[in-house]
Amino acid sequence: MADRYLHLTGTAPGRFLTRRLGLPQPAPLRRWTLETPHLDGPLLHLTAGAPAITGVAEALRTSGLTVTERADRPAAIVLDATGVTTAAGLGDVHAALHPVVRSLAPGGRIVVLGTVPSSDDHHQAAAQQALEGFVRSLGKEIGRGSTVQLVRIPAAGIPGGASAHAAESTLRFLLSPRSAYVSGQVIELTAAAPDPVADPAAPLTGRTALVTGAARGIGAAVASVLARDGAQVIALDVPGAREELERTADRLGATALPLDITAPDAAGRIAAAVPDGLGILVHNAGITRDRRLANMPADRWASVVEVNLDSVLRTTDELLKAGAIPRGGRIVATASIAGIAGNTGQTNYAASKAGIIGLVRSLGPRAAADHGVTVNAVAPGFIETKMTAAVPFFIREAGRRMNSLSQGGLPVDVAEAVAWFAQPDSTAVNGQVLRVCGQSLLGA
Ligand code: NAD
Repeated sequence: MADRYLHLTGTAPGRFLTRRLGLPQPAPLRRWTLETPHLDGPLLHLTAGAPAITGVAEALRTSGLTVTERADRPAAIVLDATGVTTAAGLGDVHAALHPVVRSLAPGGRIVVLGTVPSSDDHHQAAAQQALEGFVRSLGKEIGRGSTVQLVRIPAAGIPGGASAHAAESTLRFLLSPRSAYVSGQVIELTAAAPDPVADPAAPLTGRTALVTGAARGIGAAVASVLARDGAQVIALDVPGAREELERTADRLGATALPLDITAPDAAGRIAAAVPDGLGILVHNAGITRDRRLANMPADRWASVVEVNLDSVLRTTDELLKAGAIPRGGRIVATASIAGIAGNTGQTNYAASKAGIIGLVRSLGPRAAADHGVTVNAVAPGFIETKMTAAVPFFIREAGRRMNSLSQGGLPVDVAEAVAWFAQPDSTAVNGQVLRVCGQSLLGA
């Protein structure tokens, strides 16, 4: 459903009126297009303290932006704060960003690079954890469609020394229009070496991706973005949605697989559909059956947990056990900010989505060690789909405005995050839950 308020504030009289009334001022977000794949301007590379990692400048150059140490109007600013290990050192963060933050172009990006807070050095841990509060606050105040994130790169215990090489796919995503609706996030990378990308223009070439719940909404957008990036897509949805599924699949050159993901033989049928192995598995199918707990019959509880969580656990286990997801494989599940913040009337849904977060955090490290596969999740906030169009007007408006970007996201915003997890060189991105919520106030 169209966001009329966003349209209104895009006109001169609308902007004047809403400013006078002190109402939110959402800036139109620029998403990725073939014609405009990059941000429009240079990338300002700054440091605070003596960096604890090498290769940052090289990693930044893979963003496609011109990297500079001086710029009047940067489209992006990256602050290497990996060397900040004391409370006094935080002064260098202020000294680096305070003079330039106002010059950031609208729709710009700020990425702070940090390291993992240490469990043996509480001064380093305090200074590095301080960066999280800093980034989340700057995200809330920066405005004009700009975003701010923290990327933690492990600085210790890495053979050959700590390097930003493993962060390249993450920086490419965060420093591009693809991450338009992601802000205030902390991404903690592992030390895993990235797998090579043969064709940067179509990085998923040669991989088969299966997307559940792909007939419409977010799932159809995920299928579309993965196909854009070169994957051969299998689009799965319930047999009752066959017509819509086939239309979506035809449009994308994908294969339709009408199948209820809760069927006992679902994993076997998926494995049979991918005899050469499944490179990317996206668990997107999800349902809501809202009621307050006191009014919720057992069947509404059970169906939500079955579709949103149990079938995800079962198919993941069975496909991994059968060796159907080869090394380099990617599993991406779908949580929700309801699973982080909770929501009235959604005890079943929020439990199922919080369960996804538990699954990702626990399985991620073991799947990497045992199978060479990463496991991550997206946690969408308010995304403009049929599901949210059905929400009553005032709740819908609150959902749209109660975030740092003062607007709802689009299905493609979630899809771009899934595609980042799926990249061959995202090997160091594992066990992460990325909120795609415009830095929603809920659960923040
Ligand atoms: P949607 O209802 O538009 O689409 C969900 C799809 O899943 C439908 O095509 C449906 O037929 C399919 N599906 C349902 N049960 C299935 C089953 N048993 N087997 C196979 N397919 C099944 O929903 P959406 O808004 O596109 O949401 C997609 C995912 O994102 C869901 O997991 C949802 O919980 C999550 N999410 C959405 C939002 C939002 O704002 N839209 C916010 C947070 C999380």
